Amino acid sequence: MEKTLLPAGKLWLVGAGPGDPDLLTLRAARLLTAADLVVHDGLVGEGVLALIPAHVERISVAKQRSRHTMKQELINDLIVREAMAGKQVVRLKGGDPFIFGRGGEELEAAREAGVACEVVPGITAAAGCAAQAGLPLTHREDASAVSFVAGQCKDLTDQDWSGLAGHGRTLVIYMGLATASAIADKLIADGVSPDLPVAVVERGTTADARVLRTLLTDLGDLVAREKVGSPALIIVGKVAARADALDCLGAPGVAANIENMRDFT
Ligand code: SAH
Repeated sequence: MEKTLLPAGKLWLVGAGPGDPDLLTLRAARLLTAADLVVHDGLVGEGVLALIPAHVERISVAKQRSRHTMKQELINDLIVREAMAGKQVVRLKGGDPFIFGRGGEELEAAREAGVACEVVPGITAAAGCAAQAGLPLTHREDASAVSFVAGQCKDLTDQDWSGLAGHGRTLVIYMGLATASAIADKLIADGVSPDLPVAVVERGTTADARVLRTLLTDLGDLVAREKVGSPALIIVGKVAARADALDCLGAPGVAANIENMRDFT
């Protein structure tokens, strides 16, 4: 009875794309101006946030790797509660809401609470970073399969990536910066060639993006040497050789070090 007296609120799980505001969908841009409340992540760039009109309420639930400013359950409670109170709530997430974005959990929370919810897809980092680098994730000559994996510490040892990288395949690693070295070791131990090209895209689609390339065996060193910062994506596979990238293997001393390393293996 009480429920029917409330105005109909709604939750929108909206992908903000990989950074460049021009890569928002038209629907996402429209919703940002129509919303009562926008709840956004730290990954959503300033350029996108600038499109939110001043009268629209805005809450940041930014997370840092070691410090969670808001637990996922609290975010779920917040967005569901506000929609139930009658607001048009936009939950704005970097990239696509359903690719490593916990959008699935938020959709389930809305469904459980009986809140109307719609998902607006966004350009995921893999697609955005590949475009920036001129790197085709699939190519008739090089790769007919592409996989997205999460490389953050806590899951790494449990992951079975065998068969995801190597001949005819492209492996895209999200959240893999801190564990880049362990990831390379793991892949090589699984039988992937240490000579496979790897591209690292930092701040893909933004004006100050960097696209760096090396071989798998040098991945961890490259990330440390070049002080690659977050957000960054790692793309492993023959297609990385086609990227418009800064070739870091040519850096003084690096190629020789890799040769020496191979002599011992
Ligand atoms: N839902 C997001 C991914 C969230 S996980 C999407 O679909 O893109 C966060 C990870 O995404 C980061 O650690 C990084 O690996 C990657 N990422 C997001 N934006 C990026 C960007 N502009 N450049 C490089 N990597 C990015």
